[in-house]
Amino acid sequence: MVKKLSDLSFAGKRVLVRVDFNVPLDASGRILSDARIRESLPTIQAILKGGGKPVLLSHLGRPKGKVVESLRLLPVAKRLSELLGSPVLYVKDCIGPEAEAASQALTKGQCLLLENLRFHDAEEAGDAEFAKALAKNGEIFVNDAFGAAHRAHASISGIGRLVPSAAGFLLQKELDAFARVLNEPARPFVAILGGAKVSDKLPVIQNLLPKIDTLIIGGAMAYTFLLQMGHKVGTSLVEKDLLPEAGRVILQAKNSGKRLLLPVDHICAAAFKADSPASVQPIDIPGSLMGLDIGPKTIAIYCDALKGSKTVIWNGPMGVFEMDAFCKGTEAVAHAVAATGAFTVVGGGDSVAAAEKTGIVAKLSHVSTGGGASLELLEGKVLPGVAVLG
Ligand code: AMP
Repeated sequence: MVKKLSDLSFAGKRVLVRVDFNVPLDASGRILSDARIRESLPTIQAILKGGGKPVLLSHLGRPKGKVVESLRLLPVAKRLSELLGSPVLYVKDCIGPEAEAASQALTKGQCLLLENLRFHDAEEAGDAEFAKALAKNGEIFVNDAFGAAHRAHASISGIGRLVPSAAGFLLQKELDAFARVLNEPARPFVAILGGAKVSDKLPVIQNLLPKIDTLIIGGAMAYTFLLQMGHKVGTSLVEKDLLPEAGRVILQAKNSGKRLLLPVDHICAAAFKADSPASVQPIDIPGSLMGLDIGPKTIAIYCDALKGSKTVIWNGPMGVFEMDAFCKGTEAVAHAVAATGAFTVVGGGDSVAAAEKTGIVAKLSHVSTGGGASLELLEGKVLPGVAVLG
């Protein structure tokens, strides 16, 4: 069982908190969105309220093991201090005597933000000695960085082995949402998978198929399935080496009485370009065209299949939603998901972007903040950052 914040007692203790302060910055180093800092406030405030002294750890950007001046966390410390309305101290390294002294000197109500973890390549290498050096800055560990929980980095899976640890509110919320979908879904349970590659989603399909009632497939990954079924797919994206696997999925769905929905028509163009003239094509795509979105009949079938569902998981767009000519399928499905009133979980960077573009985020039960981490949960894996929080 993953420990929760409420399972730990913070009074008087330095609490190492792995947060995700990987905020977008402009060219002059200004924070473009402080959403990630704001989202971490409930966990930090709960620790402060419990008499703990938060020592915050984060990565920012990709410094690749070197000190990069533009990727220092000082602007984040300033913003966090404004949001908390209390001082946030900052030191220019995340390990070593200066960090240790600063953490020891913390008084009640103060926070300390240590420097960008990825200035040390030992962080991403998951180095045990580096984890030990980080752990010297606290007596307890809280992980609240869901987006990095699938990485076996020193600050994610290393520290948790050394000191008592628990999940922060953000991580807990993600785990609870996925556990509800995967372990106790209200039925009917519909999964919608899309995006570019079957290879990325096959482990998800394999894990979900026994659990769901209906599997809706869209995006480029549909064409590998359609080709396997003997349809013409023109120049659409296909992963030929996965044709046998697609065949096995189709058979498995049939034998286990699951409904597997694939496109019956498409929006096609001659080239992968926003201004390439688009046309509706039937299930068999003429040789010179590629499928870039699901067609109107498919939209109607997919939206109808969502009606009455009680649990919906959606990962991956139905077409090239970034281009106006090929976004209608994704938008229609997004609205249909929002209208179900089901327990709805959207994961993966592109489907979250599509949900935001369509303006349905407020109507969803849970929008996951971690693309890679959410995919691994859907694959049925235990995340390295979660395994250590027992
Ligand atoms: P993924 O990261 O696997 O979820 O894939 C998302 C990407 O798949 C998006 O950038 C979409 O533009 C792309 N995509 C969706 N449908 C198609 C399609 N029919 N052909 C090519 N790319 C697609």
